[in-house]
Amino acid sequence: MTPILRTVADLRTLVRGWKAAGEMIGVVPTMGALHDGHLSLARRARGECDRVITTIFVNPRQFNNPEDLKRYPRSEAADATLLASVPVDAIFAPEPEEVYPEGFSTNVSVSGVSEPLEGKMRPGHFDGVATVVSKLFGMTLADRGYFGQKDWQQLQVVQKLVRDLNLAVTIVGCETIREPDGLAMSSRNVRLSAEARGRAPVFFAAISAAARDIRAGQSDRMAIREAAEAMRAAGFERVEYIELRDAESLLPSDDSSRPRRMLAAAWLGGVRLIDNIPV
Ligand code: AMP
Repeated sequence: MTPILRTVADLRTLVRGWKAAGEMIGVVPTMGALHDGHLSLARRARGECDRVITTIFVNPRQFNNPEDLKRYPRSEAADATLLASVPVDAIFAPEPEEVYPEGFSTNVSVSGVSEPLEGKMRPGHFDGVATVVSKLFGMTLADRGYFGQKDWQQLQVVQKLVRDLNLAVTIVGCETIREPDGLAMSSRNVRLSAEARGRAPVFFAAISAAARDIRAGQSDRMAIREAAEAMRAAGFERVEYIELRDAESLLPSDDSSRPRRMLAAAWLGGVRLIDNIPV
């Protein structure tokens, strides 16, 4: 079975040996409750690196909602079994006190790209992400870090963080893995009732249709309004945002010569879902 490390000291002992042997280390940061989306990242790392570490840490600092933190699914034993099938070389699963010991007082904040969309709806979320990702890179001595496009804004925040701080880590953004009906895989999907799960594919279908219509020349506002209406008609209780943005800066963009991304967040059956697609 894959070794599960709980302390930074144990992790460092292991990775220092790998580094001394000149091995390249790939790191896949996760919050556990693993699914095929996470495993696709680990498999990509496996193919590109000598050593692969998957971190499992439900980072309290990136939860702006205490109830969401409490209810976040945890399944370490099952996660370890899935990771053994990849396989990965180590699992780093520290307790919160190991990551944030008494007296911890640093905050990493990436301005600009982390402010709109998720940053606006979830104040403090990206500071929590940027802080923990910086720490995980420092702890694991990562050469390459693997992140999913499912969390597109997070991927842009991490890219900016690495550039701005000259971190010696290459960030690899991986395709979103979806259920056969189009729903993006997410650890939070297990919270959907069977009834809500049946309606959930409308999310991806609606933003896909909007992206297609915009590409075909329809106005952004009209296409987005239709997508929001389709979602409400399917029983989504709240559409938080559907936005067309510059894919990198995440600023509003009507420049179709640059890569653009449609990003959306909505509530269904008490569960908050996010997704995004290129336009
Ligand atoms: P999480 O455990 O939700 O923090 O996700 C850990 C990593 O897995 C992040 O980089 C996510 O973007 C990525 N991820 C989550 N869901 C998917 C998915 N469906 N496809 C690809 N990557 C994903």
